[in-house]
Amino acid sequence: MKDIKLSDADSARLVEVFSSLQGEGLNLGQRQIFVRFGGCNLCCDYCDEPDTIPIPSGRLQSRRQLQQAIDKLAQERRHEAVSWTGGEPLLHPRFLAPMMDWARQKGLRNYLETNGTRVAAFQEAAALCDTVAMDIKLPSATGRQTWSEHLEFLRVAPEKIFVKVILTSQSTQSEWRQVIRLMQEAGIDIPLILQPATPIASVETIEPALAIEFLNQARALLRCARIIPQWHSVWGMP
Ligand code: SF4
Repeated sequence: MKDIKLSDADSARLVEVFSSLQGEGLNLGQRQIFVRFGGCNLCCDYCDEPDTIPIPSGRLQSRRQLQQAIDKLAQERRHEAVSWTGGEPLLHPRFLAPMMDWARQKGLRNYLETNGTRVAAFQEAAALCDTVAMDIKLPSATGRQTWSEHLEFLRVAPEKIFVKVILTSQSTQSEWRQVIRLMQEAGIDIPLILQPATPIASVETIEPALAIEFLNQARALLRCARIIPQWHSVWGMP
């Protein structure tokens, strides 16, 4: 296949840049500027941004173009943070780290949304992150075992991370035991969010009774575990 450029220090493939309310996790409802990168190294069956999975996807944009887009949104209203999302933003570390540095200098916080598998890239960006919303991916959703990558990732900067696990009708008790074991190994103070999958054509969400049972098991062993559903679809927002 012909070499296709994903990103370098000066440009990266982006799908969209927009202002919205954070619709998931501990920072739910916070006004953020979303920078959505193209390309992902996983393929989750519940993915709500399937257009961002192919490598390549999105359009190459320069650092200057992105800075102008962020500046414009930041002048229109106050934002709590830039949400670096995707796709998988850590596929673009040479572009991401200097952009995070620039955002900090502008007084914006850096909120990273990641699938928690790109450990080396995270090591480059961790010092610039204020909050990291990291998924632990269940094999029933991805068809892959990524437990060891997740554990390494959690150990890079546990004080900045909260973990989100998306639960479907395919999520199993043994997967859940493995999530809790991993969280215990990484640090019981890292918050754990159970997010029932938003139903789409091919995916059913977890039964409420089972989600509550999973929550109870987590609460017995970790300091902070909560159920927080995804709110974009409820609000009708991107
Ligand atoms: S990691 Fe995120 S962007 Fe990638 S396929 Fe899964 S849900 Fe979609």
